[in-house]
Amino acid sequence: MSTDLKKISAGFIGAGHMAQALANGMLKAGLLKPNQIWASAPTTTNLETFKDMGCHITHANEDVVSACTVIFLCVKPHLVSQVLKKLEEKNAIQSHHLIVSVAAGISIQFMEKLLPEKTRVIRSMPNTPSLVQVGVCGYARGTYATEEDATVVSNLIGSVAMCEIVPENLIDTVTGLSGSGPAYVYTIIQAMADGAVKMGLPRSLAVKFAAQTVLGGAKMVLETGRHPTVLRDEVCSPGGTTIYGVCALEEAGLRTGLLRAVEAATLRAKELG
Ligand code: NAD
Repeated sequence: MSTDLKKISAGFIGAGHMAQALANGMLKAGLLKPNQIWASAPTTTNLETFKDMGCHITHANEDVVSACTVIFLCVKPHLVSQVLKKLEEKNAIQSHHLIVSVAAGISIQFMEKLLPEKTRVIRSMPNTPSLVQVGVCGYARGTYATEEDATVVSNLIGSVAMCEIVPENLIDTVTGLSGSGPAYVYTIIQAMADGAVKMGLPRSLAVKFAAQTVLGGAKMVLETGRHPTVLRDEVCSPGGTTIYGVCALEEAGLRTGLLRAVEAATLRAKELG
């Protein structure tokens, strides 16, 4: 496969949250032009968003496959088998196609069994902040996917997400961490804002300040390269306000709660497979 993105047409089978986040992010990043993107879904609701972005839309998944070289499989996990079987019945998938699944829990082996022999497959796990180009994505190469295929996926998704190759047996863990993680972070932001509202700050300011605090903390970790524990110790002056806050978090079990959330979501991803 050519790694020249100008020659690539990207198809999205399933046009919901994840497909929109990836497509919109790739357009915003200037990586693809709207006419290089196709999307399919059974109803028009989600497709309208793709239409508004200037992309091609259709209700027929096989139209997306015949128009595109890179096919993002963005349906719910339980629909993957049905969608692939129908495409197979129509001989839609050919040797020039690269299939990129984003479905939680669905293994490469499962997809390869449903696809024509030697189909190139990449299993990925992006997340919805790809919409604002601050996503995270772990991906693994299937049996026949080449290094060029990995480069294409890493260039496409890498324009909207921190994109790293991981062994396939860790993709479920990536799902539990960063695939599901935005929901944990929204919960933290909401709860921090509630605390501030309780203590008198107007809601709109509380939400903005809480979100910016999460963003700032994340940037400190990523840009300084320092360990979160070191950064936390630095802001906990003896007898100061922050160590009192941290103590309240420890009493409430925040760390155990987050650890368990990643564990539970990872195990759930394993069940979906
Ligand atoms: P969604 O419900 O928002 O979108 C699913 C889309 O699939 C809809 O547009 C729906 O109309 C379409 N669809 C349903 N049946 C179809 C069919 N037979 N053919 C073609 N399209 C069909 O779901 P989502 O949140 O975008 O999740 C899609 C995939 O992305 C899932 O497999 C999920 O595991 C994965 N994922 C989601 C997130 C997330 O945060 N939402 C993160 C990482 C991975």
